[in-house]
Amino acid sequence: MWFNDLTRKRSAGPVSPQHRVLPRTMSPETLAVHAGTYEDPTTGSVGTPIFQTSTFLLDNASYTAFADGTLRDVPIYTRYGNPSQWSVQEKVAALEGAESALVTSSGMSATANTIFALTNSQSHIISAYDVYGGTYNLLREDLPSAGRTVSFVDPMNIDAVRAAIRPETQLLFFETLTNPMLKAPDVRALVRVAKEAKALLIVDNTFLTPINMKPLELGADVVVHSATKYLGGHSDLTAGVVVGRRKFLDRIWAQTLRFGGTLDPLGCFLLERGIKTLAIRVKTQNENATAIAKALASHPRVKKVFHPTMRGPDFAGADASDYKGYGGMVSFTVEGGDAAAEAFMRRLQIPYVATSLGGVESLVSMPANTSHSSLTERQRAAIGIGPGLVRYSAGIEDSSDLIEDLVDALAPNGREG
Ligand SMILES: *Cc1c(COP(=O)(O)O)cnc(C)c1O
Repeated sequence: MWFNDLTRKRSAGPVSPQHRVLPRTMSPETLAVHAGTYEDPTTGSVGTPIFQTSTFLLDNASYTAFADGTLRDVPIYTRYGNPSQWSVQEKVAALEGAESALVTSSGMSATANTIFALTNSQSHIISAYDVYGGTYNLLREDLPSAGRTVSFVDPMNIDAVRAAIRPETQLLFFETLTNPMLKAPDVRALVRVAKEAKALLIVDNTFLTPINMKPLELGADVVVHSATKYLGGHSDLTAGVVVGRRKFLDRIWAQTLRFGGTLDPLGCFLLERGIKTLAIRVKTQNENATAIAKALASHPRVKKVFHPTMRGPDFAGADASDYKGYGGMVSFTVEGGDAAAEAFMRRLQIPYVATSLGGVESLVSMPANTSHSSLTERQRAAIGIGPGLVRYSAGIEDSSDLIEDLVDALAPNGREG
């Protein structure tokens, strides 16, 4: 495989001498605040300046980088690299325990560039039906037309994943916690299957974040994120992140140069600022979603709650000790089908009815008429989306307020919306 031939010694980064590189042994709370900060020698600014520029003065170091092919390590042109990007990249790399990171203009940019960079034409990819809709469409349409064959399997069924392996399998792509059923596949088992296949395991860790799971430590090769969600955390930014070994990231970086889709400096500033509070936000969101799941599980108007703390078949095989928590998502089926669920959502007073997730504010939506509307009812049923399914993204509000609001909206004689 091509990646076994990459023997050039590669340093971590890219970072400059001004970027704060902290030992990865520090706690995520500390790394989230401090890792990667650009310590500006001219002004002493406490936060990373916004390097709002598209290009940089050419000097001897730039010409050397052109000659040596080390353009990723010298600021030359912002699509190639910018100190604002390097700051947030170092922060995410530190949190995920990675050698290198890349920030992109969206989660889809991260996923598309990663898959294109790490597979060749004529190769085979294994993934799941219930990955994020944009990812599914990419795997279903763009990759086949670019010469890749894709098999879709259920990641909860490791035998099915193994059975899908072919001699030309190069990549397995799964989510560490799925949307909206919150299935938690056994990442260690997926790592073993990928190794048997001599293929790479790429995981989308958006729903868990490095606060709850560090997939690279479990053996995954590359991790992607929609930083639009928890990493940004304030529903005010579209961004993506890729982390892993530098030899993979250099290749994904080169792909991103060609397809476009790097993150602009102002976006980097918002993302870096957002991640400073990631650890405390996610801890609160873990607690809120768990409390909501518990409260709803015993509610007479809720038919079923989907949350990893409920264990059951949607947790098949995964070791609970691989998780620090499960994030802010909780899904549940409201009695009375989609119409009742919609009326229930309108009665909620705290969360906004909107797609997306992971922000400080709670959001609620129905997968059937949003993220999964392009599927037929039968396809939805196959991944577990039944009538009345509601997806709730818990923010950082007070959990008793959120639960009281949910219980009020569920009451048969509750307020009409
Ligand atoms: C939102 C999301 C994406 C896509 O991210 P964008 O930032 O919207 O491009 C990918 N994967 C998961 C799990 C997501 O939730």
